[in-house]
Amino acid sequence: FSTNGKEEKPTCNVGTIGHVDHGKTTLTAAITKVLHKDGLSTPITYDQIDRAPEEKLRGITINTAHVSYSSSLRHYAHTDCPGHADYVKNMISGTSQMDGAILVVAASDGQMPQTREHLLLAKQVGVGKVVVFINKSDLVEDDVLELVELEVRELLEDFGFDGINTPFVNGSALLALQGDQGVYGEKSILKLVKALDEYISIPTRDLKSPFLLPIDNYFSVPGRGSVVTGTLKQGIIRKGEEAELLGFDRRIKTVVTDLQVFKKSVPRVEAGQNLGALLRGVRLEVLSRGMTLCALDSQKYGNRFEAALYLLSRGEGGRSRPVTSQYIQQLYSNTWNVTCRVDLPEGVDMLMPGDHGTVLVTLQERMVMAPNQPFTVRENNVTVATGIITKVSP
Ligand code: GDP
Ligand code: MG
Repeated sequence: FSTNGKEEKPTCNVGTIGHVDHGKTTLTAAITKVLHKDGLSTPITYDQIDRAPEEKLRGITINTAHVSYSSSLRHYAHTDCPGHADYVKNMISGTSQMDGAILVVAASDGQMPQTREHLLLAKQVGVGKVVVFINKSDLVEDDVLELVELEVRELLEDFGFDGINTPFVNGSALLALQGDQGVYGEKSILKLVKALDEYISIPTRDLKSPFLLPIDNYFSVPGRGSVVTGTLKQGIIRKGEEAELLGFDRRIKTVVTDLQVFKKSVPRVEAGQNLGALLRGVRLEVLSRGMTLCALDSQKYGNRFEAALYLLSRGEGGRSRPVTSQYIQQLYSNTWNVTCRVDLPEGVDMLMPGDHGTVLVTLQERMVMAPNQPFTVRENNVTVATGIITKVSP
């Protein structure tokens, strides 16, 4: 696939979202078929995609089909889910984080409830951009296409997307899949892939933000002090820099007196690398896995978060009874767990098993959690809910 034999193309994560029966799976199949002509994909049939394998994750079962194809510029890893519930769980559990989404809207229906729900979830879990494919264009007159586009552009604005610059492609996934050469056939697929290339950006390692090191492990080096280890999530950390340790309600100022990568002392480390940091004046007893080493005064440090929460159904091993406000359990994220209280927003009395909704999470101790950070809630070590942070200190 590579253009010059040396450089690998970058990978971009995308997926179809939209109302049931609007043509997400047909479109997925059509993309793989049309790009196959240029040797950029292996054709995958509608039936292969719709028989999406089950993924078992934290007690929940999600059906997702992972398909891949390429443009001349990039590789695409594309997910398509068979059912609405699978989309909800996929997004809330952070299973396949999309860099951008393809919103499929059937011109014959216009926007529908799941169109809105998927857009809301996409926004909440940090999908910044969407490309819209107005499908089933073969079924309507062209003036209907214009109306649907206007309506969807407004909807995008309502959900915080860029309603003006978002690319729209009118097409027919079915015609394209049948080999139709017209504008709504294969040409619409090529136009869609071009729009993805141009509009969806691939995240790069964040070297600009203040550094953040979630602590995986810690130990003491006799005669030197305490060392914490982990993979630097963002920023650049430099030897001699002031820092603070946050988590489990503790806040400890320190200085990074040495940095090691592969057992060699280095002056600086960039995001993405695994490192050990020697800390001045920090006793081993105050350290815990799950704390975060941060640039001084760079983080909001609190115990209240807004989250999207999916409550596992009974069949998934979840609760048999609904959750109401002041629900107290253990919250697990990354390497740590803390007691939490879950409250429902005003006007919502309960969340039923199998339902999802926005909740307020209050941790018993302050922790560093970032938007899009996934977590689970467990009762006696059994996962009953999965969630994703949508806002810090709401
Ligand atoms: P999904 O639930 O969003 O994945 O929708 P599907 O891809 O399963 O499509 C639902 C139905 O719409 C199927 O019967 C498709 O054959 C049909 N369909 C999909 N795309 C088109 C299209 O462009 N034109 C027409 N007329 N039918 C389509
Ligand atoms: Mg489908």
